[in-house]
Amino acid sequence: MQIAFIGLGHMGAPMAINLHKAGHAIKAFDLSADACAQVKAQGLQVAASAQDAVQGAEAVISMLPASQHVEGLYLGKDGQGGLLQHIAKGTLVIDSSTIAAATSQKAAKAAEAAGIAFIDAPVSGGTGGAIAGTLTFMVGGSDANLERARPLLEKMGKNIFHAGAVGAGQTAKICNNMLLGILMIGTSEAISLGVANGLDPKVLSEIMRRSSGGNWALEVYNPYPGVQEASAATRGYTGGFGTDLMLKDLGLAQENATAVKASTPLGGLARALYAAHSLAGHGGEDFSSVIKMLQKKG
Ligand code: NAD
Repeated sequence: MQIAFIGLGHMGAPMAINLHKAGHAIKAFDLSADACAQVKAQGLQVAASAQDAVQGAEAVISMLPASQHVEGLYLGKDGQGGLLQHIAKGTLVIDSSTIAAATSQKAAKAAEAAGIAFIDAPVSGGTGGAIAGTLTFMVGGSDANLERARPLLEKMGKNIFHAGAVGAGQTAKICNNMLLGILMIGTSEAISLGVANGLDPKVLSEIMRRSSGGNWALEVYNPYPGVQEASAATRGYTGGFGTDLMLKDLGLAQENATAVKASTPLGGLARALYAAHSLAGHGGEDFSSVIKMLQKKG
């Protein structure tokens, strides 16, 4: 299948590479020349623009940072024409970015009016899952559109959930990431407490991993440097899932909670702590660096 892949960051690049390895013809595009060069080195074709990428595409996949990027790409900015005008009727658009459900719904409505199929399909599993092709997809859209997307999603992930109509994938994703933000702070707090008492962070992490405090951060994303060889913490909190992206997701969760009058006290506190962490200059670091705020200095 010919596929336009737009957004080749920490997640998009390995996802596009997996589709390429599966035999699909990818035309990839990112605003960053470095990001384009990285996938070109893996044998993918790089397009000169997003409009160029979608020429002849049977499916378009986007993996962009936030709502404004997705809206700007597909619908255009300040009344300027968006990419939907350049996508052929009948094409399937899969947006895997984590954005507001309302933005997915707005893009889907415009796509539908242009005869283009649209699903939101945000992911979980981190960069490790993107590289290994084991992501979890949370899909919002019709059964028919999900079935069209499934063969592509299966090349990038191992769990595909149908959350509901367009936007429902995003709602599931922000519930998950609100929990992830809370548990990363909790895990960081517990490890820091143990270390302040002289415990070895590796030993303590293993005890908690196999006890009732066990969770995903302890399994594969330990925030303490050196505990896990492949963790972002061990490589100086580079790569991975940025603090500012986590802050965005916690903000989306709070906006949603306000709209539906849900009580999410720990989600609100997690957002406040991630905002402070970002303001302290850690916005570009992996989100597990939040442990720094809980550690004794010097
Ligand atoms: P990233 O910042 O590494 O990559 C985003 C890429 O999009 C950048 O390379 C940027 O240049 C590009 N971009 C922005 N606007 C563009 C446009 N108009 N046209 C073309 N390219 C454009 O972000 P990421 O970590 O890959 O995350 C992408 C999305 O996936 C985010 O919504 C994030 O919340 C979500 N997510 C990330 C992770 C993770 O572990 N990193 C996990 C799950 C979900």
